[in-house]
Amino acid sequence: MPPSPTAALRALWFGPHTIPLSQTFLLTPLTYGLVNLKPIRPGHVLLATRLPHPRFSDLSPDEVADLFLQAQRVSRAITRHFGAQSLTLCIQDGKEAGQTVPHVHLHVIPRNEGDFPDNDDVYEKLEHTHRIDNEERTPRTPQDMAGEAEMLRKEIGEWNTDTDC
Ligand code: AMP
Repeated sequence: MPPSPTAALRALWFGPHTIPLSQTFLLTPLTYGLVNLKPIRPGHVLLATRLPHPRFSDLSPDEVADLFLQAQRVSRAITRHFGAQSLTLCIQDGKEAGQTVPHVHLHVIPRNEGDFPDNDDVYEKLEHTHRIDNEERTPRTPQDMAGEAEMLRKEIGEWNTDTDC
């Protein structure tokens, strides 16, 4: 069962998953950043809403604004650290669009020339991540994820917490 909105203010939830603070790298009252258990490219991270809204249209104007303002900060950090030439930013909004975790999140994916045989393969890979990962790919270790989160915290240059966490 997903947590109540009140519970979500006391913990970081990602759909049905509890996300350790050690695997997060950015926190505002409305948005947080988490490293990916099964990235499709090195540096593929997620920005999620603090409240467990299932769909993009559920967000308030402030939540939409903060999500995209934080996306700009994370984009700069990812670009610097992973040497990305470009970025794919995307939201899979609903099960039929490939969403596997029913909690609004924005994918930030570093892109470089030749990283996929066909450029738009990134979308196919994203859509099939859940199934492919479960069957064929091993999740990263908590230590690996915590290490990346720590590096991104430094790259972003500040670690915002509030009293609810
Ligand atoms: P989507 O398929 O658009 O819902 O994306 C879900 C994303 O969440 C995928 O990139 C997964 O690798 C990632 N993911 C799933 N569970 C976790 C978790 N516990 N911690 C971090 N990332 C996760």
